[in-house]
Parts: sequence; structure tokens; C-alpha cells
Amino acid sequence: MKISYMRRVLPSFSKKPTFASTCRAFHAEKVSADSRGLPVVHHSRYVCDLPPGHRFPMGKFPRVLHCLLKDQIVSEQQVWTPELVSEEVLNCVHTTEYVKNFVSGKVEEKAQRRTGFPWSKGLVRRCRYETGGTLLAAEVALERGMACSTAGGTHHAFPDRGSGFCLINDLAVTARYLRNSSSCPSSSSIAGGRKVLIVDLDVHQGDGTAFIFKDEPGVLTFSIHGEKNFPLHKQRSDLDVSLPDGTEDRQYLSTVEEHLPGLLDSFRPDLVLYDAGVDPHTEDDLGRLRLTDAGLYQRDLYVLKTVVARGIPIATVIGGGYSSDVDKLAVRHSIVHRAATQVWKECGM
Ligand SMILES: [Zn+2]
Repeated sequence: MKISYMRRVLPSFSKKPTFASTCRAFHAEKVSADSRGLPVVHHSRYVCDLPPGHRFPMGKFPRVLHCLLKDQIVSEQQVWTPELVSEEVLNCVHTTEYVKNFVSGKVEEKAQRRTGFPWSKGLVRRCRYETGGTLLAAEVALERGMACSTAGGTHHAFPDRGSGFCLINDLAVTARYLRNSSSCPSSSSIAGGRKVLIVDLDVHQGDGTAFIFKDEPGVLTFSIHGEKNFPLHKQRSDLDVSLPDGTEDRQYLSTVEEHLPGLLDSFRPDLVLYDAGVDPHTEDDLGRLRLTDAGLYQRDLYVLKTVVARGIPIATVIGGGYSSDVDKLAVRHSIVHRAATQVWKECGM
């Protein structure tokens, strides 16, 4: 296991975060009738059409919500619907040229191959709803303490290019937007907006996110990933832990437990964005690690409890997960919502 820290002078913390502080720039279409339940953010347009036989499991997004409803983990009244994120908001991370070309379809073949997706209007719409979903989850989390999207975690996208199934970096856009937003009168606990910790436990390093925030002390990036997995050329997060192929539950969990509390206590974020990628699972097509369902559940439970116990709001995204058995994969992705529901109930949120 390799651990590398990127040292940074962190700003001092002056005020406790508050769940009541919220800037609802991305109104939900429906305010939940069941205000007691865990907020789950979902949009039917998180999906788009792909050519037959495409290897990305696009069908997982609606199935995540479907299995949560079927198993009565959440009710329809708990579902919040995001809006399409504007180009202007995307520009807080991505270059104007990249956003303009992506939205209008001026994307070269080579660039499309690098992202893994053929360009389509549906793809653009999907990415904009997905990013809107992560933003809404963060805003609802700031108000309610916790919220979980049924998509998100496109952490390989850089300001001027997409990569590895990621076109728009939803985590980065959300973190930057919340920091920059001037429409949040009660938001700023330090000069320059909220402090955001991005906990990225997808098996692939969050290279785009790490690059975007490398010189931004208000956003701390923490990534635990497979040493030999994509991307080959890794960026420097504030804290990177790379794990060898075949890592199992116990070592994985002890790695999370070793680092997360210290990061929370030293950085003291106003919000945690949690990428709960399920591709460290032993049956994942791309993962190379050996976590079980129980291991993922324990991981998510630990992260959520550790953050919530400190009074810090947390928003979750599902991150990566790859399997030709899309139903099985969707259940795997729903682990984080199940763990969040348990924490929500146990903590009386
Ligand atoms: Zn991944």
C-alpha cells in the first residue's frame, strides 16, 4: 500500500457548519411530502441511448431507484428531482470552449473515443441532469444533513476534456459552485465560501478532481484507489492511498478508518461529497480488488456515521460499477442508500 500526502496550508476554521444554511439554486420539482425520510435525488433522464453492445451499463441508473422502492428502503415521497444544470454553472470548472463544444456536438472522434461515449444530444442532457443531481444532493444535505443521488461521481473529467466515461466533473462543479456562490448569505464559514472534502472511494483515482483542486485549499481531495488501475498516469490528490490488486474487506476498511477521522478533524469541512463507487467489489468487471457486499456496506456505514457524528453534512454519489448483470449491479449501487437509511434512522435525522 502506498500513501502520499500533498501538503497544504489549510485555512483556519472559524464557525461550526449548520444544516440550516442552504442556497436553493436548484429547486426540486417536488418538495417531499415525507419530510422525515432520507432525501434521495433522482431523475429519469440520468440515462441516454447508447449503441447496442456498448460496455457502459447505462441501465443501472433507473434500476438503483427501482430496487430501493421495491425493497421499501425509500418511498416515492423521498425522491427529489434535480433540474438541468446551466452552462454557466458548468463553466465554474470547465473551460467555456469545452462546454460550448460539448453542448453543441463539436467533439472530435478522438475525443469521443477517449471518453468512451459517442456524442449525442441525449448524452449532453444526461450529464447535465446528473450534475444537477449532485448539486441538489449537496444543497439538500446542507439543509437536512444527508442526501443521496442515484448517479454522479464523474471524477475523470478535466476542465478541458472528458475521460474514462466522464464528460462533466459533477463533484468538482458542485464543490466549486458551493464555494463560489454569492447567493448564500449564511453559507460562508470562512472567507471564500464553504470548505468541501471530497472522499473518493471509487476504485479508480479521481484524477480530474485532484487536478482541478490541486491549488485550491478550500477543497480537500481524498482518494483510495487501485494502484494498477486506470488512470495509468495519476494526479496528486491531497491524500492518495493506492491499494494492490486483490485487496480484501479487512485491509480496505482499516485503510478508510486510518485516514478519514484525521482528515475530518484537521480540515473540518462544511460539507463532504462522498463518491461511493462500487467498483472495488470482487465481481466488478474493472475493479481488481476483492470487496464483498458486506464490505461495501461496512465501508459506506463507516464513512456516513463518521461524518454525521461530527455534525458535518454529507452528499453521496454512486460512482463507478461495471457488470453485464445490470440488475445485480444496481443492487450493489443501492448499498450506499441502504447504509444511509440506517444512519438516518439511527441518528434520528
Ligand atoms: Zn471507477
